[in-house]
Order: sequence, then C-alpha cells, then structure tokens
Amino acid sequence: MKRGFVYLVGAGPGRADLITVRGSEILKTADCVLCDKLANSALLRFARKDTELLHVPKRTADGGSTQEEINRLIVEKALEGKTVVRLKGGDPCIFGRASDELAVLREAQIGFEIVPGVTAGVGMAAYAGIMLTDKQYSSQVMFVTGHEATGRRESSIDWDVLGKFHGTIVFYMGIGNLDSITQRLIENGMSEDTPAALVANATFPTQRLVKASLGTLKHQCDQQNVEPPALVVIGAVADSDDQLNWYMRKALFGKNIVVTRDASGNADFAGKIIKRGGNPVEFATIRIESRTDSNEFLQAMTRFSQYDWIIFTSGNGVMTFFEALDGLGKDARAFASAKIAAIGSPTAGRLAEFGIKVDFVPDVFTGAELGRQLLGFTNLHDKKVLLLRSAIASNELADVLTEGGAQVDNVAVYTAAEVKNDASALIESLGEGTIDWVTFASPSSADALFGQVPTGAVNSSEAKVASIGPVTSGRLKELGVKVDVTAVAHTIDGLLDCIEQEESHNGFS
Ligand code: SAH
Repeated sequence: MKRGFVYLVGAGPGRADLITVRGSEILKTADCVLCDKLANSALLRFARKDTELLHVPKRTADGGSTQEEINRLIVEKALEGKTVVRLKGGDPCIFGRASDELAVLREAQIGFEIVPGVTAGVGMAAYAGIMLTDKQYSSQVMFVTGHEATGRRESSIDWDVLGKFHGTIVFYMGIGNLDSITQRLIENGMSEDTPAALVANATFPTQRLVKASLGTLKHQCDQQNVEPPALVVIGAVADSDDQLNWYMRKALFGKNIVVTRDASGNADFAGKIIKRGGNPVEFATIRIESRTDSNEFLQAMTRFSQYDWIIFTSGNGVMTFFEALDGLGKDARAFASAKIAAIGSPTAGRLAEFGIKVDFVPDVFTGAELGRQLLGFTNLHDKKVLLLRSAIASNELADVLTEGGAQVDNVAVYTAAEVKNDASALIESLGEGTIDWVTFASPSSADALFGQVPTGAVNSSEAKVASIGPVTSGRLKELGVKVDVTAVAHTIDGLLDCIEQEESHNGFS
C-alpha cells in the first residue's frame, strides 16, 4: 500500500490570505487535514470536497485533544496511505509543538515536509504598524513564551537576561500571565516606563491594540477586557507612530457588515469586506436554483444560433447558463456570431472567465439603462434578442427592448428561492448595537430577510442599511425599511465604496 506523507503547514497569523502560496497549494492535495484551533478554518476551502477535515484544538478546560492524541491521529492517517496536512497557526516551528509531531513521524518512518508560515508575532507587527526592529531603537528581537512565567520553579526563561535586554521582546501566550511577566521584567531591572503594547486577534477585523508602559499594561488590558489570543510587545518600538497603523485606520476596519446574498455570493462579498478591513457577518437569505431544465430554456437553446443579441443580467445567470451548456455537451462556440451584452462589468467579468468578450455593457448597471443604452448603441428593430435572466426579475428590460422594436425571448435560467435560517443571533446583535451595516444586493434578498427579521429590528437599531441600486432600494422602502445608502455603481464593489465613503465622513481615515 502507498505510504502516506505528512505536511506540517503554517497557516499564517490569522487572516486566511496570509498563508503562503505553497501552503495553499498543498492544502489542495490533502486527503486529510488536521486543523489547529488558531489556524483559520476559512483555509479549509482550499481543500477538495472529499478531504477529511478534523478539528483538533489542543486540550483546554472545555475539551479538545491532548498532544499525544493528535500525534497518534497524524500517524494513523498517514499509515492509511493518506496525504495528511497538519495545519497549524502561524509557523509550525514557533511554539507549535512541531518537534513532538516530527518525532512520532520519524519513529513511524513517515515522510514529511515543513511549510513555513508567517508567525503571529511577525503578522501582528505588520498589522499594528509596529516595527520589530528599527535602526535607531532596536537591533534585536526575542520571541518568548509567556506560558512559563508562573507556577514553575525552574523556568527555562532567562528573566535576568530579558530584564536587561535592549531590543524588542515579543511574548506569545502571555495574556494569562501578564501580571507576572511585567513584574518579572521589572524585578530584573527593566524600567516600568518601557513602552509596551498588547495586540489581540492580530490581522483580523477584530484586532485590538492596547499601548501602555510596562508598569501599566496589565491594568490597561484589564480595563479594556482584552481576550486571547494576544501577543505582548515590549521595547522602544512598542511606542509606535499611530500613522503607521494602516490596518486599524482603514475606514471599514472592525465594522460588522451583514451580507444577505446566497451562500456563494456571500462568500465572495465577505472576501471583499475582509480585504477592506471589515468583519463580514454572513446570513444567506436565498439559494440560487437553476431553471435550465424548463421547456422554455430548452426550446430557446434549439434556436440559439438564430439570435442576434444574447443578454445576461447577472453573474448567477452566466454561471447557471454555462453549467447547462456544458450539460448539453456544448461550449462557448454555441454563441457563434451572436452579439453579447452584460448588465455590468462583474457580469462581463464572469463571461470573460468562459472566454467571451462582451459587445456591450451600459455605463449604469440597471436593467432599464441596459435596455435604453443598447437601443442607442445599435438598431434592434426586428432583431432577435434572448434575455437570460432570473425568474423573479422585473420585466423592465424586456419591455424597453420590445418597445424599441426587438423580438425578445425572455427566458429564466435561475430563480432565487428563499432560505430559512435561525435569525435569532442576528436579531440579538442588532438589538445589542453591534451591527454597523446591513447590505442588500437584490430585492429578493430584501424580501427573504424581512420574511424572517422584523423591519423594526433593523430600523430601530444602530445599523445602517446599504443597497446595491435603485430597484433594491425601492423594494426595501416598500417593505418599510429605511435605506441609508444606495450604491452609485451598482456592483458589490460600488456598494462597499459607498459604505466606505460614509464611514470616512464619520471617523478617521
Ligand atoms: N505557531 C504559532 C504560535 C502558537 S502559540 C505562531 O507561529 O504564530 C499560540 C500563541 O500565539 C497565542 O497564545 C498568542 O500569543 C499567539 N497568537 C497566535 N495567533 C494570534 C493572533 N491572531 N493574534 C494574537 N496572538 C496570536
């Protein structure tokens, strides 16, 4: 039987896209992933659908696995002939118990590779704008575990050396022992006035930064209720220039933004929010269901080569259409000489993924504008037009084109079915005032959300409401929901641009 192989992969400091390229590529090949508590579970989406995913947080009072159990599991899976990825937070070789795991692998004669990761101390520094080394202030850096600060008589930490160290000290696992860490440094000669900082949830939109002096750090952190995971930085560089804290200064930093599309649309939207420093709260309201098995669609396909123009009004339409085309054993050549229009640049982008360069995109991304502008662009009199759209879209586009003389086949390729979720956590967060924005990218999402959440829960909360365009805003208003922002460009990026602009009016940027 094939002998398995184990990769110890560093997941990076937190944010999912801070894993290395090699790490993400190896995840794609895994038969089994054993995921650490600190490794971002969003990374598991790199794995294949059939990959066995095992969450093995280290044992704490709340349960979890012992290191011995984890060691046994890695060996067991590898001996089954599997490619095993042991995914660890940060770098596997920095306070990661890598040596224990490697020892059992060697004993069992299982091959391994170590894939480095950005350790939390380094990730934190970049995301808090703290330079771990500085030509003027610090020529040396130490990574120290804060876990051993108390309760052990023969600590392996050289507190006497640390107390006199003229450089930067980064403590991992230090928050629980913050009192004894700061005390021991002071007892060993470090000035109480030495700059210090604590960074919790580094690289995430929930990142927190507390700056203080060595003597007051513990008190400050207690006052601000900071929770692990956190790193402590001690030394002159901890007194960093706030202007360098690029991440926490982003307009959307830490903003809790509810996304209400279908699950895959939400994942895409969430990724864009994270890139801008915000914290997405995913609440799927709809499910995209293909309608390409209908007679209407199949008949349109038999006439496909006769159309002069084929129009797509959403990315979902493009995806469901090409899935159906593939199912019929066809490919993009089916379009032959037909001209193609898309409602907006994201839809055109989706078509480009299938090798299609669109002939027309309006400069305002609504159905009505697409119709009007297309009529200005070309003479559609007696031309055959195929509209591939959602079953619940308004007829505006078809009407405009028909009035312009076109022969329009208006064919649904998908519909948005409502999805029921447990909305209680969302309603509670709205009530507590922890949601900053609720976003809507279609009227169907608005209908579906407010089928489950009373409009009052949003209207009377601190949350603002943002909509992708006038049709969605109109629907929200009909439902009795106040709309704070309607995107100028009717795309997800356009929506985020407007939220960002609104936030930067309010805060610093
Ligand atoms: N191998 C990991 C460290 C494991 S020890 C690495 O290289 O990063 C666990 C400690 O790492 C935590 O107690 C905390 O001090 C630190 N840590 C990990 N992720 C963190 C994060 N996102 N923010 C702050 N500290 C983090």
